[in-house]
Amino acid sequence: MSFSEFSFHARVQAGIQAAGYETPTPIQQQAIPAIMAGQDVLGLAQTGTGKTAAFMLPILQRLTTGPLRRVRALVVAPTRELAEQIHQATAVLAKQTRIRSVPIYGGVGKGAQLDALKRGVEIVIACPGRLLDHIKEGNIDLSQVEVLVLDEADRMCDMGFLPDIRRILKHVPNRQQTLFFSATMPDDIRTLASDILKNPTTVQIGMIAPAKTVSHALYPVPDQKQKTDMLLTMLDQFATSRVIIFTRTKHRARNLAQKLDKVGYRAAALQGNMTQNRRQEAIDGFRKGKYDLLVATDIAARGIDVSDISHVINYDMPDTVDAYTHRIGRTGRAEESGEAFTLAVADDAAMVREIEKVLKTRLELRRLPDFNYGDFVPEQQFPQRGPVQSAQPRGGNGRNGRSSHPQNSHRNDRGSGNGRWRSPKPQTAPQRKPNR
Ligand code: AMP
Repeated sequence: MSFSEFSFHARVQAGIQAAGYETPTPIQQQAIPAIMAGQDVLGLAQTGTGKTAAFMLPILQRLTTGPLRRVRALVVAPTRELAEQIHQATAVLAKQTRIRSVPIYGGVGKGAQLDALKRGVEIVIACPGRLLDHIKEGNIDLSQVEVLVLDEADRMCDMGFLPDIRRILKHVPNRQQTLFFSATMPDDIRTLASDILKNPTTVQIGMIAPAKTVSHALYPVPDQKQKTDMLLTMLDQFATSRVIIFTRTKHRARNLAQKLDKVGYRAAALQGNMTQNRRQEAIDGFRKGKYDLLVATDIAARGIDVSDISHVINYDMPDTVDAYTHRIGRTGRAEESGEAFTLAVADDAAMVREIEKVLKTRLELRRLPDFNYGDFVPEQQFPQRGPVQSAQPRGGNGRNGRSSHPQNSHRNDRGSGNGRWRSPKPQTAPQRKPNR
């Protein structure tokens, strides 16, 4: 199937070309015809499936006719990063049209948002809190909104935004179409969807089961204190390119990023205590190759759209299966392959079982070569499992010892390890202690 089959306006088609998309992803194939036919859509899909373009292309198509400089489409998203990312994607897709979008979120001044609203925009992409501020202050008129999109509805619910969403809905009285996207369908989300959608067409892509292009491995670790050693051993052994490392708390993210930086890796933290500017700097730096490792918390990492992430490493086990799904959705995006490694202590056994139930498969239990386990026997940590698979460092997963990522050309191999990559700052980076 090709995009030309949707018969988009030439200016919208030009945006697809500008984005470099050649064939529609499965969710685009399913959702675009329904949305263009004016139907409400319930999209069960996680990020990484191409869902932004799935809803935005038909919106652009609709907005190419009719009045300009009034808000005709509203996208509500849980985090600033996701709002910003949708805005950026929209800017590319709408480049040849006269349609403009503005991202609206807190943590930054209101000035630029007010200016854009005054100048007039057709698409508003907003996080709930700041949007309600603008509504209260009379800065924004949503009475002309024709299409409402709720993106990552389950996450908005997790973050306590449901009351805000219902408040916002009251200010969008004349909408003709509602598009509702969620990776999972807990009860309160199902209720919200049935309250606001009229005869929706349901499109379901990779619901719950995360990207099939990702392989999942479990690395038992004797205790919390040894996690950093295990992580460093992993980074030494595996041919990684860009890696996102998830921690449970903001402090752990900050401290771990600092430790990694100290031993010579190009690492940045991404966590909620950072200002919006610093968060954006971390994301941009990661995207552009200034950082190879991003140490993030779940919420801060929502909506990061960085391609070519080779590994997601769960330094800490996520709190929910949903969080696991979202984390590993950072790799294996757009049909690429990726690996998800999870470090697990004994207390994580229950969550491992939950994840396996949802994935309908076992996480492959692995022992890390060259890691000093002492008396600890990894397979005894999770005893009711199949045989332990030995990992294949240095080029397992077809990576042939080196990442194909172009940014790797600057990496500085040191010591004996193939696939060992470090920051290009050997003069300033302290030597790692020989006996960690
Ligand atoms: P999303 O699920 O919207 O966050 O999109 C995930 C990634 O897939 C983004 O980097 C998009 O630019 C990319 N993408 C979306 N649609 C396509 C397509 N048809 N072909 C290739 N890449 C795409």
